[in-house]
Amino acid sequence: MTETIGWIGIGSMGHRMTRHLVAAGHDLVVADAVSTERAPQQARVAKSNTEVAALADIVILSLPDGTVSEAVAREIAAASPRKVKTVIDTSTIGIKAAETVAQILGNVGLTFVDAPVSGGTAGAEKATLAVMLACPADIYERVKPLMALIGKPFHVGPKPGQAQAVKLLNNFLSATALAATSEAIAFGVRQGIPMQTILDIVNVSTGRNTATDDKFPRRIINEKYDAGFTAKLQLKDIKLYLENARAMGIPDEIATTVVGVWTGLEAAIPGADITLMYPYTRDGRKKG
Ligand code: NAD
Repeated sequence: MTETIGWIGIGSMGHRMTRHLVAAGHDLVVADAVSTERAPQQARVAKSNTEVAALADIVILSLPDGTVSEAVAREIAAASPRKVKTVIDTSTIGIKAAETVAQILGNVGLTFVDAPVSGGTAGAEKATLAVMLACPADIYERVKPLMALIGKPFHVGPKPGQAQAVKLLNNFLSATALAATSEAIAFGVRQGIPMQTILDIVNVSTGRNTATDDKFPRRIINEKYDAGFTAKLQLKDIKLYLENARAMGIPDEIATTVVGVWTGLEAAIPGADITLMYPYTRDGRKKG
């Protein structure tokens, strides 16, 4: 492989995704504002995001939110020397931030690929993420083999922000499913029915969803509460969804309620894993 790949943000998702790139033989250079300790051993560690932009042909981001992606895009745009030609952002940042990042990079002749991912830390670990890509078709074809190393690439459309739109609607559905399933399971358990029995039945019935077939059997029934995705990040996503839905005039009663419920969990247990939605609901969703 002749191209050097840069990666900025070695967090819960980033450290897992980068492993697949080095396993495929890519030369990798990484940076993180806090720690690169979890980066794959084979990766070179840069001193700054600017150094990554100077060393890599393609830079991939896995950052907390749109404000950070915009700041990092500005650093990349201002980097001198600068080798990077293409920046791919796998972070969930919302439609407006994706448009802004595309503009910041476009102003200095860089190509931007809006590329949020779904599938959680487990998907990042197993390289089974859904990778939603919004960019012109020729660029999609160019980045597809790289993105296929972390999951299944989908071309959503040509405009930055379109992939964010799919990611946001997906996370709205996922957050709704976990909140609603927590209420439903608490209802059944209160009737003296074992949680396992409820899950066995629902998972072959019409109420099945990602909470009943993944989060409850793997992370809640055993009280591990270890999805590796925080309520705080979840809230960021569904608030972005709600904000965008309102701006578009899409009905938002359910989204409004769901944002309220997740705001309650984050207030009661700051930093909570999303799976704590169940005990929080079972115990009456009392504020901490
Ligand atoms: P994280 O907070 O674990 O990782 C983000 C990393 O970015 C951290 O290591 C942080 O130190 C680093 N960082 C912050 N500011 C920086 C800067 N200015 N320069 C360089 N590094 C900086 O978050 P995560 O769970 O890995 O999520 C990353 C992105 O992926 C988020 O946008 C999130 O919404 C999205 N996402 C997360 C999941 C999940 O299950 N965790 C699933 C799908 C998508």
